[in-house]
Formats: sequence, C-alpha cells, structure tokens
Amino acid sequence: ATPTALLVGTGRGAQLGILIKGPEALESTRAVDTIVLDKTGTVTEGRMTLAEVHTAEGEDRAEVLRLAGALEGASEHPIAQAVARAAGSEATVSDFANIEGLGVQGVVDGHAVLVGRPRLLAEWSQHLPAELERAFTEAQASGRTAVAVGWDGKARAILVVADAVKPTSAEAIAGLRRLGLTPVLLTGDNEAVAKTVAAEVGIDEVIAEVLPADKVDVVKRLQAEGKVVAMAGDGVNDAAALAQADLGMSMGTGTDAAIEASDLTLVRGDLRVAPDAIRLSRRTLRTIK
Ligand code: ADP
Ligand code: MG
Repeated sequence: ATPTALLVGTGRGAQLGILIKGPEALESTRAVDTIVLDKTGTVTEGRMTLAEVHTAEGEDRAEVLRLAGALEGASEHPIAQAVARAAGSEATVSDFANIEGLGVQGVVDGHAVLVGRPRLLAEWSQHLPAELERAFTEAQASGRTAVAVGWDGKARAILVVADAVKPTSAEAIAGLRRLGLTPVLLTGDNEAVAKTVAAEVGIDEVIAEVLPADKVDVVKRLQAEGKVVAMAGDGVNDAAALAQADLGMSMGTGTDAAIEASDLTLVRGDLRVAPDAIRLSRRTLRTIK
C-alpha cells in the first residue's frame, strides 16, 4: 500500500463529508457485503415527539407528566428528551439511574419512578393493567414506540412517542443495495416498530429487541457466518458494535463514543454519503493494488 494513494482517498473523503480515521481504516472494506444499520438516530431522525398519554384508571395525566418528565429530563435518550420537552416539569430528581436498553429510574418528589420497557417495570412487579396493555400493543402495532411509567409499586401510564424516518434514508439504502450490500436493521426497540421503519426504507432483514451490550454480538454472529460487515450507528450503545464491524461508520450528529469507535464519520449525519464511503474505499484500494 502506497501512502500517497491512501492520502488521496482520505482527502477525497473530506470533500464528500466523510472523515476517515486513518488510512488503515479502509483496508478491510473492499469485501464488505452486509451493512448493519442502527435504527434510532441513524435511519430515523432520533428526535421523537410525545404523541399520546394513556393513563390507568384513576391516574392523573398531569401528575404522570410531572414525574415522568422530570425523570426523563436527566436522560439523554431520544425518548426521554421527547417526554421531558413535552412535560416541562420542574420537579427535582435524585438517585437517577439509567438501565441500559430498558429505561430509567429515580426518585422524583419522594416517589420511586420508573420509565421504560414494560419488562423493566415487571422487574419491580409493576404489571400493566389491561387498558395500558392495550394502549401499548396498539401503539406498537402502528409502528410507534411506547414506554411505560410507574411509581411506588404501580404501573400508571403509557407514553407513546413517534420518531420520523429521515427523508434521506430510503435513497441511501437503495444506493447501498446497488453496491451489492445487504442492509440489516438493528435496534433495541420492539419488532413491530422496527418492521414498520424497515418497510418504509426498503430493508428486509430486521434484528429487534437487542440489548445494547448484545449489539456487538449481532455483528460477531454475522462475521462468523462469513459476512464482511459494515455498521452504521450514532449512539453510545452502538460503540462496541462499530468497533467490532469490519467498517464502522458513525453519524457526525451522533455521540462522541460512536465517533471514537468508528473508522469513518459521515460528517453531516447524512446516510446518503454511506454508499460514497464504500465506493471511495473500494476505489482507493484498487488504486493501491
Ligand atoms: P435503540 O437501539 O433503538 O437506540 P435503546 O437500546 O437505546 O434503543 O433502548 C431500547 C428501549 O429501551 C427503548 O426502545 C425504550 O423502550 C427503552 N428505553 C431506554 N432508555 C429509555 C429512557 N430514557 N426512557 C424510556 N425508555 C427507555
Ligand atoms: Mg441509536
């Protein structure tokens, strides 16, 4: 490999809005045949808005928003930001903890509050009453994300948030397919939401309900099957998978952890640049050979 050809590659990358970590970053990308795409913040805007609040019998909507909103104000998750923004709560939070891939917990105004997947609430024996179960199932079936709210030993509400697919995602994925790559959508979110998003952008393969720590295992499993894997992601929870992938691509709009773990950064967070990045690395390597 001549350093000159590699530098030409990185220079051209900068023009395209691709930041390349080091010339070696392109080394393994020639044979990439699979691209794993994180859903939230990569394929979707990652900017959710609160769409619906369903309260259990006898619960007060304002109180749900006050407690859940304050707790979510301490989290950087896109779901949390949507809830916090909509609630505008000024209640104080202590003992905040983020439970990776499940939700958040903390004490708000003396109440032990949980917001997250029903699985998280179930761990504290807070089971959804029938009306909340129904609201949760309906939201999921329509391809939206629903989270549960509970405090002091009881599930109280379902919050439904919606996240729009980026207008550029379908075009980007079509471009990746034209390069012979098989796209796979990877998310911690539920299967119905994942499938709705996948259908909207032209992805057939979905791996959903994956815990953050297990995202890296999905990449390893594909590699064990003989695939050469690119991964595109933006979150802290994508960092290990980005590092494991043969080609890790982070969104410039994403977290520092993702950017540090990746080989390439798509500066503007525009996935349409991903096919350019693959093409560039293939071309650069051809020049060197
Ligand atoms: P993704 O892979 O889509 O970025 P995560 O692994 O970050 O998803 O989260 C998985 C799921 O855990 C979310 O869909 C949500 O149900 C729940 N969750 C995680 N963090 C929070 C939070 N701060 N508030 C509410 N729910 C959360
Ligand atoms: Mg993400």
